[in-house]
Amino acid sequence: MATISTLAYLVASVLFILALRGLSHPGTSRQGNQFGMIGMGIAILATMLSSNMDMGGFALIVAGLAIGGSIGAVLASRIQMTSLPQLVAAFHSLVGMAAVFVAASAFYSPESFGIGTAGNIHGSSLVEMSLGLAIGAVTFSGSVIAFAKLDGRMSGAPITFANQHRLNAALGLLLLLLVILFVTSGSPLLFWAIAILALALGFLLIVPIGGADMPVVVSMLNSYSGWAAAGIGFTIGNLLLVVTGALVGASGAILSYIMCKGMNRSIINVLLGGFGSGSGGAPVVGTGVDADRAPVKAGSPEDAAFIMKNAQKVIVVPGYGMAVAQAQQVVREMADLLKKEGVQVSYAIHPVAGRMPGHMNVLLAEANVPYEDVHELEEINPEFAEADVAYVIGANDVTNPAAKTDKTSPIYGMPILDVERAKTVFFVKRGMASGYAGVDNELFFRPNTMMLFGDAKKVTQEIVQALQR
Ligand code: NDP
Repeated sequence: MATISTLAYLVASVLFILALRGLSHPGTSRQGNQFGMIGMGIAILATMLSSNMDMGGFALIVAGLAIGGSIGAVLASRIQMTSLPQLVAAFHSLVGMAAVFVAASAFYSPESFGIGTAGNIHGSSLVEMSLGLAIGAVTFSGSVIAFAKLDGRMSGAPITFANQHRLNAALGLLLLLLVILFVTSGSPLLFWAIAILALALGFLLIVPIGGADMPVVVSMLNSYSGWAAAGIGFTIGNLLLVVTGALVGASGAILSYIMCKGMNRSIINVLLGGFGSGSGGAPVVGTGVDADRAPVKAGSPEDAAFIMKNAQKVIVVPGYGMAVAQAQQVVREMADLLKKEGVQVSYAIHPVAGRMPGHMNVLLAEANVPYEDVHELEEINPEFAEADVAYVIGANDVTNPAAKTDKTSPIYGMPILDVERAKTVFFVKRGMASGYAGVDNELFFRPNTMMLFGDAKKVTQEIVQALQR
């Protein structure tokens, strides 16, 4: 039986690797998901069949699967695409909580895990357990804060105070000290001290992060949740959990690195927390309207249709507003009509556009936009200077030049899409509100900008109608 379960674990591991590979491209992501689901099914079955649990234990697991699976299925089918990031953050918190519970049950009932007896747990198991516990607790409280910020239940603005980095570093060191003391003593008091300190650390690491930096946090917590699972896998001696945790931990770490590069942030600052708070001051919160500025130029969908029909090159810049309005399909229809008129149309994707990594890629793939028309930031930025039109639909922060010029801005240092270099820039949005980072965008007031006020889908539909006339 042991050999069969080892073989099943191996097959599941290979399927998880194929799942990650599939998920790296929109075209293969559906298949990647299927590999992941089959792998997980095999893993659960193999674990249940290979353990020598009684009928009671078996029934408990089946009941847990049924309840958890039903809640997950209902949540996932009802969730709006725009709320996915907070759902993901909430799920990460569950992984963290599970790691804490498993560590506690291993600590109080070591015989059932074969890691020693009460008061006499193997030293190596205490190390693994304390690491799983600490990382799990950090992941839990950090993810709860990330959920609250992403869901708008808590202000997205960074909460900062003096000596924040020093405090985080000191708490990190104290946590390490507690882990060492726990491993040498096996004291229950220290077990719970680690849990409480790690919960506080998770909270303190995430509260100072605000504005445009949440994407990095989400991928970082994803990575933490993987390492927590791997730590617990060691404790309970489940190799597959170690492999799966390491895969999630490593892929999350790589994604965090890529996101940091995209946002021009340092990974060390991310690990210490509070990297988004810049000079430590409060963020420049956009009021949305600046009375002293020249009035903005507002155009109609007919104006936009006329200008784009006569353009040679149009670059579409999608953002969060396109996702809210679900305008991706009609954007593709508009692009198809323009292409029929001989206009060259491409799409510019900023790494943090929308509210989750790859958000825009997923939406455009859903609308069957050809992959060869979709370009990443570095690739497309030089092309704006040659473009007649930048059609910015529901994007704001990712085009804001304050990221290049205003050192006090919370988005300072983030690379942006240089839309202002196009001859004409259309901004499709409902009003003058700022984006996620709460920063005003001076591009709205530039002479080559024309605002197209309205819901992204409605405005684009009206452009499509005008193009068809
Ligand atoms: P922004 O949040 O900067 O701006 C979106 C704009 O869309 C708003 O200004 C809003 O203006 C407009 N909008 C909203 N609804 C509609 C609608 N129905 N029709 C038309 N317009 C609409 O989005 P970006 O994509 O430019 O930037 C993403 C931001 O989110 C960045 O700051 C990023 O760091 C952050 N973020 C990204 C994550 C990721 O992983 N990608 C995760 C978490 C945060 P108005 O209200 O006037 O219509």
